[in-house]
Amino acid sequence: MPIQRLAPDLVAKIAAGEVIERPASVVKELLENALDAGATQVGIEVTQGGLGLIRVRDNGCGIPRDELSLAFERHATSKLLSESDLTQVASLGFRGEALPSIAAVADVEIVSRPAEASGGAYLKLQNGAVVASGPRGAPLGTTVTARGLFRRQSARLKFLRSPSSEAGHIAAVVSHYALAYAEVAFTLRLDGRLSLQTPGSGDPREAMLAVYGVPVASAMLPLPNSEGDEYANVSGLVSPPGLTRANRTYISLFINRRWVRSRTLTFAVEEAYRGLLMSGRFPIAVLEIMVPPEEIDVNVHPTKAEVRLRREREVFAILQRRVRRALIDQAPAPQGGAAAWTAVPGAAPRPVPTVPPTHGRHLASSRPTDRRATPTGASEPPEAAPLLSRLPLLRAVGQVGATYVVAEGPEGMYLIDQHAAHERILYERLLSKPAGQAEVQGFLQPVPVDLAPHQEQALRALAEALTEQGFSVEPFGGRTYLLRAAPVLLSGQDAGRALGELLDILAREDGPADPRERVAASLACHAAIRAGQTLNQEEMRELVKQLEETQMPHTCPHGRPTMIHLSADALAKEFKRR
Ligand code: ADP
Ligand code: MG
Repeated sequence: MPIQRLAPDLVAKIAAGEVIERPASVVKELLENALDAGATQVGIEVTQGGLGLIRVRDNGCGIPRDELSLAFERHATSKLLSESDLTQVASLGFRGEALPSIAAVADVEIVSRPAEASGGAYLKLQNGAVVASGPRGAPLGTTVTARGLFRRQSARLKFLRSPSSEAGHIAAVVSHYALAYAEVAFTLRLDGRLSLQTPGSGDPREAMLAVYGVPVASAMLPLPNSEGDEYANVSGLVSPPGLTRANRTYISLFINRRWVRSRTLTFAVEEAYRGLLMSGRFPIAVLEIMVPPEEIDVNVHPTKAEVRLRREREVFAILQRRVRRALIDQAPAPQGGAAAWTAVPGAAPRPVPTVPPTHGRHLASSRPTDRRATPTGASEPPEAAPLLSRLPLLRAVGQVGATYVVAEGPEGMYLIDQHAAHERILYERLLSKPAGQAEVQGFLQPVPVDLAPHQEQALRALAEALTEQGFSVEPFGGRTYLLRAAPVLLSGQDAGRALGELLDILAREDGPADPRERVAASLACHAAIRAGQTLNQEEMRELVKQLEETQMPHTCPHGRPTMIHLSADALAKEFKRR
């Protein structure tokens, strides 16, 4: 279908949005265009986290020369013609917004040659306007280059993280697509370094190997072929219960080949593992859900990250059932296969976490801690009283829900989030050590660690700060690294796994910007006692005492509260003693 302008009434029905939030959005849109064009090879080149250059090359169908400039007009697309098409979108793009949106925030050059054309053509745009065009010799397919992204949008630039952190986002986006499009050969180069290369063989396990490495890829279980009589067809790979991660980012979901973020469906996958995983652990999964196109509304989210399923409950049930089936039929006994790689730390000096760390913090942060007490009617809940910057002497009284320590002080009652409090303690302790004096534990045998692209990016970005905290990591070819030493704080844990999880935390958005503080915060988060862990009286006393000694006892390194305070006054009011 040629590129055409959408009729105004159809434009009005399209959920518009600012598509380009960060460099990874440009990569995502260009990747989607390449896949929509039927490419079997896609090369992505990025410098300075995308702020220097983003180039995506594909061998897809190309764009006819006389349509090139139309491709950069808003709401011009070859993928949608009428309103009825909008209910049956089979392509990743459909709004005709990506190219003009990119051209509005970067200098863009496009070179394209469709199969039937004898030569290629190019177009150069600045400030969204064409400044040069003409014929250009080119291989089949399309190459789009975006330079100087956000250079003219200084406000947007300020919101971005460091180039290496943006490169991590880009690596994550490309990884997701590489996993779902195993028949496409992807290459990702970050500042000239080959970060990811998939064979494009069509075998999902080979794509998995390229992204997550041998130990993961070889352990993954395929979903059995669907019986074909179900409303939704689900296929993909899921990890056996012995192979887990500390967060949900390794659950990749695709509906009709579109990468989607769906809390509901992610939960369906988690539900399939019910009783098989320790809480706080999550599976690795790449799952492709196929439903009839009219059963899914892709037009609900500006960046197309969310979709609406007409019969979501049914899809939920099928997804859960099919994953569960794969696990029950094929999962090896816990000791087998990948267990050696992911073994639960045996000699851990403290019990294994049972609840994800964020869980505890969530509960605590749902109550205000620093608002002034206001005169309240007796029936309103008491407001937390103001807190001094240092803590008074406290006496630990007991524990609630294996998550909060109840303490008493001269000014009333304190409910302390044990994980957040311990994080604060460890964080300050780590930062108090002068550079080069971290307590380090060396290994007799170096531990090989396979990193995912986003983890490798975090490792490279924060190498110096990680070394300073006691990590000794060296490259061993590809994305395999050798871990020769790790901070003593992690002793007793599977060091390779701990490094991977730490890098996951470091790749996330939150946390301090300074590299040294950032690494210390993530190390503290990883090593701190978890919510759900029972503490004895002595441990509680110690926790409270050490918290009293910190500089900033009221917040964890990520800024979440470590405690809530109920003043003696507020208590008396609650009980109508005054
Ligand atoms: P959309 O993908 O929503 O149609 P875009 O702005 O991303 O909107 O692209 C506009 C049009 O340009 C597409 O409909 C398609 O016809 C063409 N196009 C863009 N990128 C490519 C590509 N890599 N290969 C072939 N055609 C492309
Ligand atoms: Mg598009």
